[in-house]
Amino acid sequence: MEKNLRGMVIDHILTRKALFIDRDGTINVDCPYCHKPSDLRIYDDSVSIMKEFARRGFDIVIVTNQSGIGRGYFTEKEMQAFNSELVSRLSKEGIEITSIYHCPHLPEERCDCRKPGTGLIKRAERELGIDLSESIIVGDRDDIEGELARKLNMKYMILNREKKQYGD
Ligand SMILES: [Mg+2]
Ligand SMILES: [Zn+2]
Repeated sequence: MEKNLRGMVIDHILTRKALFIDRDGTINVDCPYCHKPSDLRIYDDSVSIMKEFARRGFDIVIVTNQSGIGRGYFTEKEMQAFNSELVSRLSKEGIEITSIYHCPHLPEERCDCRKPGTGLIKRAERELGIDLSESIIVGDRDDIEGELARKLNMKYMILNREKKQYGD
């Protein structure tokens, strides 16, 4: 039997669940240290996936490594401009992004937020009150998003992309 609306609302309040999705190479076509809004190309299948999960009550949270900031290739502000363009393009598709978490550090800094480090997801769990056991991670790299999900014992899905990988 189908749950009634009140039951569904209560479920949502009690357990907030998220689709944690990678940005470059997963939502948008990867490019070398993507940061120019004019370089933004969005994959159709990522749009379908986000829509489907949103319809099922998942918050959509982007988690992304942006070491281009630490490397001095672009600024935090330039990244925000790219993200704004992405959020507005997705909003036209009817997708609302709850939040975007990024790691600006270099690999050598050994921070805990550069994926597959768990810092970004743990922050979202805390700040947004997400139940990780009800959530899922989607990415394009098994050694990054797959590894991250395995560390946290979370469900995950890796999308196969033909495009070559650039640094992140
Ligand atoms: Mg990626
Ligand atoms: Zn970091």
